[in-house]
Amino acid sequence: MAAPRVVIIGAGIVGANLADELTARGWDRVTVVDQGPLPLTGGSTSHAPGLVFQTTGSKTMTELARYTVEKFAGIDLDGEWCFNQLGGLEVATTPERLAELHRRQGWATSWGISRRTGSSILKRSRLTEGMPYCRERTAVIMSSVTRPNLTRL
Ligand SMILES: Cc1cc2nc3c(=O)[nH]c(=O)nc-3n(C[C@H](O)[C@H](O)[C@H](O)COP(=O)(O)OP(=O)(O)OC[C@H]3O[C@@H](n4cnc5c(N)ncnc54)[C@H](O)[C@@H]3O)c2cc1C
Repeated sequence: MAAPRVVIIGAGIVGANLADELTARGWDRVTVVDQGPLPLTGGSTSHAPGLVFQTTGSKTMTELARYTVEKFAGIDLDGEWCFNQLGGLEVATTPERLAELHRRQGWATSWGISRRTGSSILKRSRLTEGMPYCRERTAVIMSSVTRPNLTRL
């Protein structure tokens, strides 16, 4: 057996993805090793619920998150989804938090996330219509409904 060309230590999300990206680009003899049992090695990836926020102040990081979402959304295991896009709500209960949500919505608009996901700032009345657990303390939320930007693995 030929010696590995690349050895990646750690089969978490970073190591596993690196191996996938290398082999997708034609690299062969890529070996991933981990000290823990697979697939739940005990590393951080084993514990993460799998939320993926695409909106950040950095266009580069936003593009990376977009690429990640598109990649994960295309993966299935025996026909079953591996990445379930459930959508998400970010809730503001203070003026400062509301200002932050408007800032984030501005980034989402600038980087094209809003167009793709339908994220928007919702008034409290819209929120409480469909979300009975969000009651009067909730001021405003940022939401994406049709193509959510918050996702679960
Ligand atoms: C509770 C929790 C919730 C989280 N929620 C989210 C979330 O919702 N969304 C999000 O984006 N991020 C989340 N994170 C963060 C995210 O999980 C981590 O940033 C990410 O998983 C790190 O991936 P990694 O591959 O770098 O590290 P890891 O997943 O920790 O992988 C490193 C691997 O290296 C192995 N290893 C280490 N040393 C050696 C060695 N010497 N020899 C062999 N193997 C070795 C470990 O066993 C491990 O499997 C969460 C983290 C935690 C802990």
